[in-house]
Amino acid sequence: MQEQVAIIGAGLAGATLAQRLSKAGHQVTVLEKSRGTGGRMAACRLGHHSADLGAPWFVPRSPVFTDWLQRQGLHQWSPTIQDFSGNPVTSRQIWLASPRQSALTRQLLEHCNLITETRVGSVWPELENGVQRIVVRTDHDQIIGYYDKVIVTAPAQQAASLLDAIPRFSGIAARASTQACWVTVISTRQSHSAADIYCGDHPMLQRCIRDNSKPQRDGENDVWVLEANSDWSQQMIDASPEDVAQALINSFREVSGAGLKVDNYRSHRWLLARHSNDTELTHLWDQDTGIGACGDWLAEAGLEGSWISANSLAEQMLSEIKETVE
Ligand SMILES: Cc1cc2nc3c(=O)[nH]c(=O)nc-3n(C[C@H](O)[C@H](O)[C@H](O)COP(=O)(O)OP(=O)(O)OC[C@H]3O[C@@H](n4cnc5c(N)ncnc54)[C@H](O)[C@@H]3O)c2cc1C
Repeated sequence: MQEQVAIIGAGLAGATLAQRLSKAGHQVTVLEKSRGTGGRMAACRLGHHSADLGAPWFVPRSPVFTDWLQRQGLHQWSPTIQDFSGNPVTSRQIWLASPRQSALTRQLLEHCNLITETRVGSVWPELENGVQRIVVRTDHDQIIGYYDKVIVTAPAQQAASLLDAIPRFSGIAARASTQACWVTVISTRQSHSAADIYCGDHPMLQRCIRDNSKPQRDGENDVWVLEANSDWSQQMIDASPEDVAQALINSFREVSGAGLKVDNYRSHRWLLARHSNDTELTHLWDQDTGIGACGDWLAEAGLEGSWISANSLAEQMLSEIKETVE
């Protein structure tokens, strides 16, 4: 039986689930508020350049996730890494989608109906011609459509209100804790830096990544992504993007030791960058209404957690649809 499914969010969780359900023959519509896909692994433009603004790579923990990344055609990267004091650091396997991290979500969503620049405002079960369905509305209360199943993959705080129809789900989402993260992207003439990545303990910085050193990225300038750590990001939560950029660029100058001439920069504040939760549940699913949720605020944190959560929900939905047919 073909089901009409709406998935809210085109990040890794939404795209993974969409691919699983559409491969199984269901009609999947993905509703995304931004212009592009990728969510918290989106890219940004900076003049003629672009860079990964969110999660910069995959460092898989489990062999099953590593195997999946390999099958999606991702590349491995062996960067030169130093800590913030200049000592060499050895790294685990780093995997990347090209030419940007968000290419992976575009690839997964190839066979789905993707509707971007559409912010969902509510998800509610409703009778349509005597049949129980779910109505999805925009934040201006316009009806987007009626669906058999609706899955929310937005970050926890945004998911909470979208899950109001199932108060216990909304409560789990509201209890997840969130960390913010400031990121400044800069383009410079060749920075002649000794490393592609700087990381470790620092009062402000989490890591600095030379984006154009990643495989299949190009451009004549160096593009660095300066990621602040979560404590400093929290302290600077209401600071201006310019003040944040100045502070991070000054710190990076000290770390890299390179005479840095910044041509262009932009800062972005991720208010809901990372999550942690006390729930043991890897996904949320209410069989009576057909409303569910998955993402990194369920299962483990980070990209691998989003992927685990989406697959866990896919298994449950596909087995129930199969049982109904049998
Ligand atoms: C700077 C940064 C660095 C990170 N580094 C790492 C790392 O090194 N390793 C790691 O594992 N993880 C990292 N993460 C975390 C990782 O990016 C996330 O855990 C993961 O991308 C979450 O994927 P998701 O699909 O669950 O959610 P998201 O990617 O947030 O996707 C949810 C989507 O829902 C959309 N949406 C939200 N509300 C609505 C609405 N009302 N209507 C329509 N659409 C909506 C959003 O626009 C978004 O596209 C990092 C995150 C950031 C920000």
